[in-house]
Amino acid sequence: MSIEDLEKIKEVIPDQSPPYQSPVVPVELDLDSEIQFHCHKNISCFNACCKNIDITLTPYDIVRLKRRLNMTSSQWVNQFTVPFPMDAHEMPGLKLITKPGSSACVFLTEQGCSVYEDRPVACRYYALGSMGVRKQGDSKVEDIYFVVKEDHCKGHDEPRKLTVREYLEEQGIFEYDENNRHWRDIVLKKRSSGPTIGKPTSRSLQLFDMCSYDIDNFRAFFNSEGFDQVFDLSEQEKKSLSDDENKLFQFSCRFLKQVLFGELSIPVKSDAREKRLAEREKHAKAGDRMNPRTVID
Ligand code: SF4
Ligand code: SF4
Repeated sequence: MSIEDLEKIKEVIPDQSPPYQSPVVPVELDLDSEIQFHCHKNISCFNACCKNIDITLTPYDIVRLKRRLNMTSSQWVNQFTVPFPMDAHEMPGLKLITKPGSSACVFLTEQGCSVYEDRPVACRYYALGSMGVRKQGDSKVEDIYFVVKEDHCKGHDEPRKLTVREYLEEQGIFEYDENNRHWRDIVLKKRSSGPTIGKPTSRSLQLFDMCSYDIDNFRAFFNSEGFDQVFDLSEQEKKSLSDDENKLFQFSCRFLKQVLFGELSIPVKSDAREKRLAEREKHAKAGDRMNPRTVID
């Protein structure tokens, strides 16, 4: 299910009068709600859902898949994704590519998914949809769930019943949601604040792109002299983040919140601004092009 489908949920829920065009069943579920669904290798529709995909990728999908294929994050993104704007301010998003001349997933084989253990979270969720909602006057984001019922999917006719929580556990979704949580907060906050925050600078968008989808480049930036000139982290903190890619990704989200929303959670050196201006002046005099990864406003 695409982000656009999830957006449609918002329209479907308030007005529940038929006929529905959306595959989303307009009943709000929580973790303890019961669903009826079973997908397995012997089902008649095996692979049908992977033959016509529209999969928006999350940062943790990319971390898992680039590790699996033994590639760097930028190699993986260049080979397997197409960019799209996630909002009117062109916040960068990525979709998984399909096979040439087809709408089938690039990882689909006759035997099924060739990256099954590391498949994206959108594939794991199907046939459920989820949406983070912030109720009026509440700062907490609450997850709500929906069944997504498409004609080709026979898993809904199977007799197995289980709770939403059991389904999410079975599909390994909690790990993905936990790793993507801070990133999703950023996307939600950016969307819900809309024009009050204004259009991000192109440098902010470049940083969003790097922090979200290019952990290997973020690591290079994190270990650069430019980073140390600005941010005040102990050697021990740096090492513990460098050694753990998941922790480093969480840190990159803190960094993004600092850049996009001014949430100062990473200590900044007191003389950082002066040093940065002097460095810029030096480069300007030498006629160098600035590397966006070394410039932080
Ligand atoms: S990644 Fe795997 S599960 Fe997801 S659409 Fe592709 S083949 Fe299907
Ligand atoms: S049951 Fe649904 S999710 Fe499973 S293979 Fe068939 S179409 Fe895909």
